[in-house]
Amino acid sequence: MKKHNFNAGPSILPQIAIENSAKAILNLNGIGLSLLEISHRSKDFQSILDETMGLFKELLAIPEGYEVIFLGGGASMQFCMIPYNFLNKKAAYLETGVWAQKAIKEAKFFGEVNVVASSADKNFTYIPKNYSIPVDADYFHITTNNTIYGSEIRHDIESPFPLIADMSSDILSRPVDVSKYAMIYGGAQKNLGPAGVTFVIINESLLPKAERKIPTMLNYSTHLKEPSLYNTPPVFAIYTCLETLRWIKNLGGVKAIEAMNISKAELLYNVIDNSKMFVGTVEKDSRSLMNICFVMKDQYKDKEDAFMEFAKNKGMLGIKGHRSVGGFRASTYNAMPIESVQALIDAIHEFEKINA
Ligand SMILES: *Cc1c(COP(=O)(O)O)cnc(C)c1O
Repeated sequence: MKKHNFNAGPSILPQIAIENSAKAILNLNGIGLSLLEISHRSKDFQSILDETMGLFKELLAIPEGYEVIFLGGGASMQFCMIPYNFLNKKAAYLETGVWAQKAIKEAKFFGEVNVVASSADKNFTYIPKNYSIPVDADYFHITTNNTIYGSEIRHDIESPFPLIADMSSDILSRPVDVSKYAMIYGGAQKNLGPAGVTFVIINESLLPKAERKIPTMLNYSTHLKEPSLYNTPPVFAIYTCLETLRWIKNLGGVKAIEAMNISKAELLYNVIDNSKMFVGTVEKDSRSLMNICFVMKDQYKDKEDAFMEFAKNKGMLGIKGHRSVGGFRASTYNAMPIESVQALIDAIHEFEKINA
């Protein structure tokens, strides 16, 4: 049976990226060695790294002055590195979910944190709109896509202070005006590649320097001086990212991907909005294109387990909502084909016919 992979992360990758990564493990570009057994300082790997950084810059139209680097430690390590490097006195954070809260927790180790607004009052089902940022903030941190709750900031906000965005789960899902940000980062394992590599797009000149000593590995300057090669980078994970980037380019770039993402999400949201049994959990103007969250209406709540089983029997994987939201979450990342979204919709319709 065909499997439809709605996992939230690690999650679906383009089939071609997986196949080519498998080939590179066996024999990289016909050199007779595996990608896994060559030096990260070899010509072969350097050309992989150069192409990966180059394609990233090309696809997101990253302007001069920005560098793209690949690190270990996940987005979670960035939660700590950001304040370590840039927080002198005070930083501003937008609290839109658990990942934002984890970033806030780390920042508090280094200085004062001003939470400019929070949607915790309604279990993070919306993106706060009206807030002001203190004038003495060293930077302003946002989470553009809230993977657990299914809310998303889908435009580039204006910030008078250096803007830092966690884009772990919506990177390359839409064109971004990178010049509006001082730094964009994320774990690769939602929309870009396998777990184990973190991307950082950074313009160091836009950010304040912290007045503290920073250990070498946690200092962005270290990794900018020798882009992604201060120590051994996660070579395999970077290679799969490269294959994903090539796939995006072949499809027509990020604008083409965005159009597909909009079509997929509209299809599913439309069904949920017109459903007798299901209802979306996020306010309409804050909805994510990447993680579509929905539950059963109160009178059908006892049917949630039955639908999970029903969908599973039709090959749907990973649609269980996060425990803090319940219900269902369909992650429709870049690599998710519209056929899988349609299959989920067919399952919803069929289930409703029997049960509503
Ligand atoms: C998954 C996720 C993280 C955590 O990433 P790790 O690489 O596991 O540290 C952080 N932020 C967001 C928005 C995420 O979706």
